[in-house]
Amino acid sequence: MEHSSLETNDLGSYQDLLEKFLSRNYQFVFFRELTQPMGQLALRHDIDFDTHFALRTAHIEAELGIKATYFFLLRSNFYNILSADDARNVHKIKELGHTVSIHFDPVIYDDFHEGLLLEADIFQRYFNVPVNIISLHRPNQFFREYDSPIKGIEHTYQSKYFKDIKYFSDSTGQWRFGAPTDSVEFLQGKSLHVLIHPVWWMVGGASNLDKLQKYFGQRTQLLKKEFFDNCLPFREIYAHV
Ligand SMILES: [Zn+2]
Repeated sequence: MEHSSLETNDLGSYQDLLEKFLSRNYQFVFFRELTQPMGQLALRHDIDFDTHFALRTAHIEAELGIKATYFFLLRSNFYNILSADDARNVHKIKELGHTVSIHFDPVIYDDFHEGLLLEADIFQRYFNVPVNIISLHRPNQFFREYDSPIKGIEHTYQSKYFKDIKYFSDSTGQWRFGAPTDSVEFLQGKSLHVLIHPVWWMVGGASNLDKLQKYFGQRTQLLKKEFFDNCLPFREIYAHV
């Protein structure tokens, strides 16, 4: 039967998900430590919308003694890691013991090699961390099959991270190919690569569409407040936020 995108989604709580992995004794590792066929889990976050949700998942992980890898866009229209709030969130996530790096959109550059060098330079200088691995934002077929590092920097779609071990993603707000904790690989204790987008776990709602609608409402309200705080004539349009 076709799964409707309106159906109740069954992601459950983020803490419960992590505790299921812990109950199977998974060892949470950074990508470059992912070398064993059994028992390791590379937990990855691609931050497409909001660094505040990322900080919340980072806290939940830290409380459970789990480390993860967070990838941030440098050239997003949704957030700006050089803004005061977003930069603070990235710094805090780093201080919690997680890896922070770049979520890279290669198609905005004529030469993605040079584009990555530029972004890596900015990220390293600003956050004082090495950029050893990146993830790609909405990779097309070419990049999903691009098996080499880019200018010496590894990425999460290389075969050793993407094809050689089982990969799970919540990209649409659902486990489209089944939950990792229901998989044969999980039951066998095989190493896993799990991609989480915090927005789907940190916004309440019965379905992915409910969550999106709620989040969209929150963001438009925040935009209104930003106008109100930064532009006096705006207050002639809206007397209060
Ligand atoms: Zn992305």
